[in-house]
Amino acid sequence: MNCDVLVVGGGLMGCATAHELAKRGHSVIVSERNAAPGLETTARSGAIIRAHYGVPELVAMALEANRRFENFGALFGGDAGFVRSGYAVLVDEHDVGTLCANTAMHRDLGVRVDIMDAAAFQSLAPGVQTADVALVAYESHGGYASPALTVKSLSAGAMSRGAVFLYEAPVTRARRQDAGWEIVLADGTLISCGQVVICTGNWSVPVGEIFDLALPVTPMRAQIVVLDRPAPFQGPMPVVSDLINLAYFRADGPKGMWVGSSDSADLQDFHAPPLGNEAIPHKSGADDDAIRAAKAKAALRFRGLESAAASTVQRAFCGLYETTPDWQPIIDSFDDLHLAVGFSGHGFKLATVMGEEMACRVEGNRSPYPTAIFDLARFDAGRTIAAQHKYERAKFLR
Ligand SMILES: Cc1cc2nc3c(=O)[nH]c(=O)nc-3n(C[C@H](O)[C@H](O)[C@H](O)COP(=O)(O)OP(=O)(O)OC[C@H]3O[C@@H](n4cnc5c(N)ncnc54)[C@H](O)[C@@H]3O)c2cc1C
Repeated sequence: MNCDVLVVGGGLMGCATAHELAKRGHSVIVSERNAAPGLETTARSGAIIRAHYGVPELVAMALEANRRFENFGALFGGDAGFVRSGYAVLVDEHDVGTLCANTAMHRDLGVRVDIMDAAAFQSLAPGVQTADVALVAYESHGGYASPALTVKSLSAGAMSRGAVFLYEAPVTRARRQDAGWEIVLADGTLISCGQVVICTGNWSVPVGEIFDLALPVTPMRAQIVVLDRPAPFQGPMPVVSDLINLAYFRADGPKGMWVGSSDSADLQDFHAPPLGNEAIPHKSGADDDAIRAAKAKAALRFRGLESAAASTVQRAFCGLYETTPDWQPIIDSFDDLHLAVGFSGHGFKLATVMGEEMACRVEGNRSPYPTAIFDLARFDAGRTIAAQHKYERAKFLR
């Protein structure tokens, strides 16, 4: 088989890259080790869309990503299930200075964010308990999308423009040719291609080895609990990032609420990267402790859930963040080999922006995005990325 570009990995990053390349007229093959696209980290994503980050380069890309989700149908075709619910960051008096510094930086970059006190936020979101809240940053354009719909729309759009998706087709070997690459799949199929884009999430260590690259991407187990919302507190709600109790919440359908932890102490369950193409063994359900903590944090923040015992668990599960040592992505190119891996919890929102970034790199052009700081060499060179202003408790997460 021949193509201009082989995209390795059919998660959201690979689907978005294939979509953009096919739209620009390139012949594209996507090789995916699973039987369908988007079944790994993408499938378990919170899919929250917001621009609130501490690294300006990430803010700029997240802002563009947010615009894209708001206009998804016109830009990409199909539906991403985007709900513009609004996105709120809640802090107490310890983090007021950091919130103000971050939002000033966000505004300079063009983010529309309002700063409000607890009473003003209360009128926007009456179900939220705000007695301990000193200040709120509110992005009215933020929200969340549907991983399944987004994957479906981008992969279908790529296919309708000629991209070929090969399933149960992991890449196992790669040989550099005079021009481009010869790639071998597990069943022996040979693919000749001019360029390769690697989008393999938590498999980036073994896939990197195939291409003689050491990619520091480590799976990290994140536990998610979806609670029932009591009757007075159903319907629309903003995404709430609670930097006081270190949790985040968003609607999960009209009656459910997704609860995740943003406590760095809970985000230390690292797994060894896989050795090859096999599944990554991990406990797929959530631990009792995590379920208890999610209920307790929801009880502190939402009216109607004041007693943790009052909430019912709809489901509780785990996803694997594909983390790098500084929790920032690796976006880089080595001649005709391009990398979009290790998004460390930010990759859902950034995928379509990365699709454009990868297409520009394939075409030998600079993209409009400030991606230079995300190079692979930063880890060895001691140039790891850090937020300009760190929240007291959430630390590196924002
Ligand atoms: C619990 C949780 C919540 C999250 N919440 C958010 C959020 O709110 N907002 C946000 O922006 N991001 C969020 N993220 C992060 C986001 O979901 C990920 O960054 C993103 O989905 C990564 O997409 P990906 O395509 O890079 O990886 P994946 O979806 O893991 O795809 C990689 C693909 O590569 C394939 N592959 C591996 N090896 C090979 C091979 N040899 N050959 C071919 N294919 C191969 C795999 O089978 C897989 O399908 C969250 C993540 C988790 C776990």
